[in-house]
Amino acid sequence: MRLTKYYLPILKENPAEAQIASHRLMLRAGMIRQASAGIYSWLPMGFKVLRRLENIVHEEQQRAGHLPMLMPTLQSADLWKESGRYEDYGKEMLRISDRHGRDMLYGPTNEELITDIFRNSVGSYKDLPLTLYHIQWKFRDEVRPRFGVMRGREFLMKDGYNFDLTKEDALHAYNRHFVSYLRTYERMGLKAIPMRADGGPIGGDYTHEFLVLADTGESDVFYDSTVTDLTFGDREIDFSDRAGLQAIYDEWTKPYARTDETHDDALFSEVPEAQRRQSKGIEVGQIFYFGTKYSEPMNAVVVDDSGQRVPVHMGSHGIGVSRLVGALIEANHDENGIIWPEGVAPFKVGIVNLKQGDTDADAACEGLYKGLTAKGLDPIYDDREERAGAKFATMDLIGCPWRITVGPRGLKNGVVELTSRRTGESEEMSPEAALDRVAQIY
Ligand code: ATP
Ligand code: MG
Ligand code: MG
Ligand code: MG
Repeated sequence: MRLTKYYLPILKENPAEAQIASHRLMLRAGMIRQASAGIYSWLPMGFKVLRRLENIVHEEQQRAGHLPMLMPTLQSADLWKESGRYEDYGKEMLRISDRHGRDMLYGPTNEELITDIFRNSVGSYKDLPLTLYHIQWKFRDEVRPRFGVMRGREFLMKDGYNFDLTKEDALHAYNRHFVSYLRTYERMGLKAIPMRADGGPIGGDYTHEFLVLADTGESDVFYDSTVTDLTFGDREIDFSDRAGLQAIYDEWTKPYARTDETHDDALFSEVPEAQRRQSKGIEVGQIFYFGTKYSEPMNAVVVDDSGQRVPVHMGSHGIGVSRLVGALIEANHDENGIIWPEGVAPFKVGIVNLKQGDTDADAACEGLYKGLTAKGLDPIYDDREERAGAKFATMDLIGCPWRITVGPRGLKNGVVELTSRRTGESEEMSPEAALDRVAQIY
């Protein structure tokens, strides 16, 4: 992308309404614009990051054997009356009535709708196990929408639902989600710690939240510091291997890690004192096993191998896709702007032309731009007639992991400069070498 052809409405001043770094930086870098309280438009660069996160979520869900689909945002209230949650959900639910006076709502989650789909089309245990998911906008009329996309009213969520014959099968589905979520966050360059949590309005005894540690988080968390040393790395995972998944689950849940809702002082005191930590966390996902909580009242049954009609065991599993954009920035920024982890950067490399209009500089930049594009490295080329300082500030703000700086003086010696946004370290090399180096990193 050439910056002169892009829409990147950068703000020079810090927006007064933004209380935390990610909100401030998303507004300043022209990623989002507020449409009304807690509701945002995603401008091109913000949308690009959102799509990158969605792609990672899709790939990891499908790797685990889960099937993508798409349910609507608007739902009929009838299903919610059937499950009993229409009353329970309270003011967070946006209720709408259509021209015929029918009660509708903007879905805050989809357990009822998916259960209805399931019960109308699945009848036999032979059709199980089944896990369906979608990535769709949700609406929750939060009392205090704040921190930009972190606590929006309209937000993008991946929500998945498993249907299994037995509790044991459903707990295998739980573990599949647990492991695929670990992989998902790690691919995004994020450390998200699974912690024992509370069921809340969705219900259920088995539930973990995934939290990113950050001072601006809204959850209080207690953990054994050894849990932060665990990494997933490039292990090969067979998602049908129950014992293998259970071993990973056990590895991650052995160290103490709980949110305040389930925190237990007595258990926590058994953690060696030097390893006890208390801090704040941002909830970026949650998984639940809730058994027959919806299948029983909604009559989602299958015929088992002895001819009995039995309610299916279910779970639901969510990732806050739009909140993750904010959480990633909370965890990766400095005073000059965003520092994107390589896996999610909107542009993998930026090209800064120090002297637009200089024949040599322009030609070298064009060459790099074409070469990087051909290698699929999605460069952003700052081809504006601007001072070098302004160009550097823009690059720092939008946070491309790598920057190639091209100027007439360097070119006289046959070199450009390759700079890492994270470390600030620069190295001079030929344009070809810079291109190869960046290609190697990705
Ligand atoms: P919170 O405790 O932050 O209100 P939740 O527990 O109500 O979240 P879930 O029902 O578990 O949310 O939804 C799954 C995921 O959706 C959450 O883990 C979170 O990442 C994301 N999410 C929930 N509410 C919002 C919101 N208002 N804005 C952005 N993301 C959200
Ligand atoms: Mg909530
Ligand atoms: Mg929560
Ligand atoms: Mg939750």
